[in-house]
Amino acid sequence: MALCKVRSYKALARSFPGLTRYTGRSYATAPPLVVPHERIEEHPRAFRLYTKSHIATLFERYAPRLDPTSYLAAAQVFPMRANNYVVEDLIDWSNVPADPIFQLVFPQPAMLSHHDLDSMVSAVSQVGLSKVSLREKAEKIRATLNPHPAGQKEENVPILHDQEMLGTQHKYRETILFFPTEGQYCHSFCTYCFRWAQFTSVGSEQQFQSKEVKHLKRYISQHPRVKDLLFTGGDPLVMSSRTLRSYISPLLNSSDTQHLNTIRLGTKSLAYWPYRFSSDPDSRSLLQLFSEIVDSGKHITIQAHFTHPRELEHPAAQKAMRLINMTGAQIRCQGPLIRGINDDPSTWARMWDLQTRLGAVPYYMFVERDTGAKDYFSVPLASAYSIFSSAVASVPGTARTARGPSMSASPGKIGIVGIEEISGERVFALKFFQARNPAWTERLFFAKFDARATWLDELKPAFGESNFFFEQEYCDISAKTGNRQGSSGQFFN
Ligand code: SF4
Repeated sequence: MALCKVRSYKALARSFPGLTRYTGRSYATAPPLVVPHERIEEHPRAFRLYTKSHIATLFERYAPRLDPTSYLAAAQVFPMRANNYVVEDLIDWSNVPADPIFQLVFPQPAMLSHHDLDSMVSAVSQVGLSKVSLREKAEKIRATLNPHPAGQKEENVPILHDQEMLGTQHKYRETILFFPTEGQYCHSFCTYCFRWAQFTSVGSEQQFQSKEVKHLKRYISQHPRVKDLLFTGGDPLVMSSRTLRSYISPLLNSSDTQHLNTIRLGTKSLAYWPYRFSSDPDSRSLLQLFSEIVDSGKHITIQAHFTHPRELEHPAAQKAMRLINMTGAQIRCQGPLIRGINDDPSTWARMWDLQTRLGAVPYYMFVERDTGAKDYFSVPLASAYSIFSSAVASVPGTARTARGPSMSASPGKIGIVGIEEISGERVFALKFFQARNPAWTERLFFAKFDARATWLDELKPAFGESNFFFEQEYCDISAKTGNRQGSSGQFFN
């Protein structure tokens, strides 16, 4: 395989004199980094894909001291996908393996338990072991890693005319999620992805996906409380503009879907392939589609996933954001708090500052979900709250729009909004940002403080209560969804 030459950072800096590269050190000495508009030039770039079969060659070229064997072993279990932009422009290879973007896209050996890592290392080193045997070994390990968290397969699938709408989720009354078939992969994969299982068994029943836009439209027309439709995956922006249009156009200018306010596109393409908006062959028609959505009287929001400020510092990302803003679409930014990648307040403050300067809205900080290599990436809830509150305190009011740290748990999105001492007991103050039953939204409740807890199921109610206030009702909802009576979003319409 021919690898293209690393684009020299010096060459980039010559084109963009204001550019300072983040090197994993403090930002204290780095000037603010938003490239003036007139210096952002057009650089058409061809997409080149890297998968686990390229690990050895990539290491040989960029990190010759790193032994690829254990990385190859990890990449048998966790999906691996990267591209030339991420590899050449975003990863700081002089800082590998600690580099945050390297941690973000290359499955790490320690994501597996010692036992599983040993077993996979000996499997990849075994001469003559068939691909089928290797896959079976990996499958067994994946099955132990909670591949489908938060009851997605059982509790969120809506029913239309007595049929399950596969590839669709309706958990919250106002918001429906649609997983278009052609959008079930990404320009690059995140090692911590909570939908990682979607990428490991392509075409199997593990995947949520649908092409049924007619069913989607009919469902929305029958549910007037649905205001937001999120296209998600994977990443819907890996689809061609034409395909994306085929999903969205039927929902515009139709009396059946008049009540639908907002089209959301959940994407990490601004971070992983910003050329999608500026110089890909169909970039213009993509931006044109955004303008048409605005012209139809609906709002379009790009739910942009960012993990690290470096993703926002690149001139190509900044250009893409400016082009999107010009269409009337809004960019809202969200991402998880991940150990070893962004677990300090200055990283988040830096991200929120840059997002605000680039006309985007900081939206959510998520807690790493209870799936995959959670033990490797998770940050205790107490630390997450401390990181969030310190970061918020250090940015101006315009950048304080983010909510979090939020757990996307089975009952709903639950935020940690305080750590307090009440009546002599140290407690977490928790709040539903979103809830299966809309009546729970914004309700405060309390859990005993636990410095090591990383997820809702490790928390216990405070003040001697035996259950959290929503638990019984949540069990009732689960029983109904389990009996295929519908999804929670349907029950409260
Ligand atoms: S961009 Fe989103 S869906 Fe794609 S790998 Fe990352 S977390 Fe998963």
